[in-house]
Amino acid sequence: MEAHADVDVLVVGAGISGIAAAYHLTTQSPDRSFVVLENQESFGGTWRTHTYPGVRSDSDLFTFGYRFKPWTGTPIATADKILEYMGEVIDENDLDQYIRYNHTISDASWSSEHKRWTVTASLGDSDDGEGEPVVMTAKFLWMCQGYYRHSEGYTPTWPGMDSFEGDLVHPQTWPDDLDYADKRVVVIGSGASAATLVPAMANDAAHVTMLQRSPTYFATGRNSNELAEMLRELDIPDEWTHEIVRRKVIHDGSMVAKMSRLEPEMVKEELHQGIRDILGDDYPLDPHFTPSYRPWHQRLAFVPDGDLFHAIKDGNASVETQEIETFVEKGIQLANGETLEADIIVTATGFNLNVLGDIDFTIDDQPMDFSETVTWRGAMFSGIPNMTWVFGYFRASWTLRADLLADLVCRLLNHMDERGADVVTPTLTDADADMELAPWVKPDDFNPGYIRRGIHLLPKQGDRDPWIHTQEYVVDKEVLPTVDLDDGSLVFE
Ligand SMILES: Cc1cc2nc3c(=O)[nH]c(=O)nc-3n(C[C@H](O)[C@H](O)[C@H](O)COP(=O)(O)OP(=O)(O)OC[C@H]3O[C@@H](n4cnc5c(N)ncnc54)[C@H](O)[C@@H]3O)c2cc1C
Repeated sequence: MEAHADVDVLVVGAGISGIAAAYHLTTQSPDRSFVVLENQESFGGTWRTHTYPGVRSDSDLFTFGYRFKPWTGTPIATADKILEYMGEVIDENDLDQYIRYNHTISDASWSSEHKRWTVTASLGDSDDGEGEPVVMTAKFLWMCQGYYRHSEGYTPTWPGMDSFEGDLVHPQTWPDDLDYADKRVVVIGSGASAATLVPAMANDAAHVTMLQRSPTYFATGRNSNELAEMLRELDIPDEWTHEIVRRKVIHDGSMVAKMSRLEPEMVKEELHQGIRDILGDDYPLDPHFTPSYRPWHQRLAFVPDGDLFHAIKDGNASVETQEIETFVEKGIQLANGETLEADIIVTATGFNLNVLGDIDFTIDDQPMDFSETVTWRGAMFSGIPNMTWVFGYFRASWTLRADLLADLVCRLLNHMDERGADVVTPTLTDADADMELAPWVKPDDFNPGYIRRGIHLLPKQGDRDPWIHTQEYVVDKEVLPTVDLDDGSLVFE
C-alpha cells in the first residue's frame, strides 16, 4: 500500500455538508490543502441516494440552501433541483478539483507521534468485490458523512414478511424498474418520506394506502414564499432576496418552535385547520393526524400545496392508523382483523443511524469509543484530536449549521496556525470532569425512532458551555462566531 497524499484537511462526504466544508475552506482558509473523499460516484449525499417518486426537501431551500448562494426556485424543492444547485456551487467555485468519488473510507487512525490521521479508503470495485486500497494522511478530519447509513434503510421485522408475494421495497433503495401503475400500494410509515410517496404514486397506482402505527403532524400551505415573490417582482437582487427571506423563514420557524412549546394546543389546532380546509370537517383527524406528542417533538413535515391531502380527497389515497398483526400472501393483516391487500409494500420506516460513516477509528492504536466522549459545542469531542463532525438541526435546516460550523472550523484552523499548534483536543477541565452528562439529544426535546434506536452510540453532552449540543440555530448564530478558542476547553499542542 502506498501513501497517496498528505493533506491539511480531509473532508469525509460530498453531501450538502461536505460541499459547504470545501467552499468555506477555499474562501476562509485558502492556503490549506484538502481533499473530499466520497463513497458515491458523484456529489449530493442524501439527494443522490434517495430516488423514490417525488423525493423532495421537507424544509425550505432558502435556509436549506447555502448562506452564500441564492436560492431562486420554489421553497420546497425536488432532489433533482437540489442536485442542480449543488452542482452550480461546485462549478462556480471550481470545487471539483478537490473531490475524489468512489472512495469508501473504512479506517481512520490517529498517531500522536506523527500528529496525523491515516485514512484508508477503498477505490471503486474490482472483480473480487474489493476496491483498490488508498491511504492518505491528514492533519485534520472534517466529518461530513451525515447521520444515517446510505446503503440500506431501516425496516422492522414483522411476522410473516417472507410470505408476502408482492414487491417489498424501502424508499432508500428504490428499484429503478419498479412499475406501480394500476397496482395496489401500501406505504408503511407516516414521516416525510411517506407523505411524499403517497401523493407521488397516487395518480398512477390503483390506490395508495398510508399505513401508520402512529400519526405525524403535518403543516400544509402553498409551495411558494410570498415575500420572495414580492421581492422578485420588485427586481430586488437575488442575493438580497435570499438573505431577507432566510431571515423571515428563520424568524417564523423559531416562532413555531417556541409556540409549540408554550401553546401546543393552539399550534395543533392551526395544523389541523390546514388539513380540514382540504378534507372537510368530517374527516377523522383523530386518529390519523393527531399524534400523542406535542408539535415539533419530532420533525414537523411540510406538505407543499397539500398534495397528500388532495390525494386523499380525490380517493386515490387513504390512511389507516393501525398496528400490523402479520404480513400475509396478499398484503397485511391489521390488528383489528382487517386485511389490506397490496401488490407493493413500501416500508418508509426510517433510517439506520450511522455514527461516523461506519469507519473504524483508533487513537494511538486504541479503538475509539465515540459514545464515551463529551461533545464540545456539538462539533468536536473530548479526547479526540483534530476532528470535527457536522451534525445539523432537526427543527431548522441542516445547512444552517453546516455553514456556521464551517466558519468555526476555519477560524479554529487559522487560530492553530497563529498559535503554531499542530493539534487541538477538546479536554474536560477538572471543574467540568464531574458534571452531569446527558444524551446527545435529550429525549424530551426530540425523539424520532432512529435517534432512540441509536442514542447509545452517540457522544454525550454536559450541562454547561462549551459541552452543550444546543440544536438551536438562534443560539448558535450568536454564540459560535464569538467562541473564545482560548478558554481552556481546547488544548493546543
Ligand atoms: C428524503 C430526505 C429529505 C430530507 N429533507 C431535509 C430537509 O428538507 N431539510 C433538512 O434540513 N434536512 C433534510 N433531510 C436530512 C438530510 O439528510 C440532511 O439535511 C442533509 O442532507 C445531510 O447532509 P450531509 O452532507 O451532512 O449528509 P449526507 O447527505 O448523508 O451525505 C453524506 C455523504 O457522505 C458519504 N459517506 C458516508 N460515509 C462515508 C465513508 N465511510 N466513506 C466515504 N464517504 C462516505 C455518503 O456517501 C454521502 O454522500 C432529509 C433527509 C432525507 C433522507
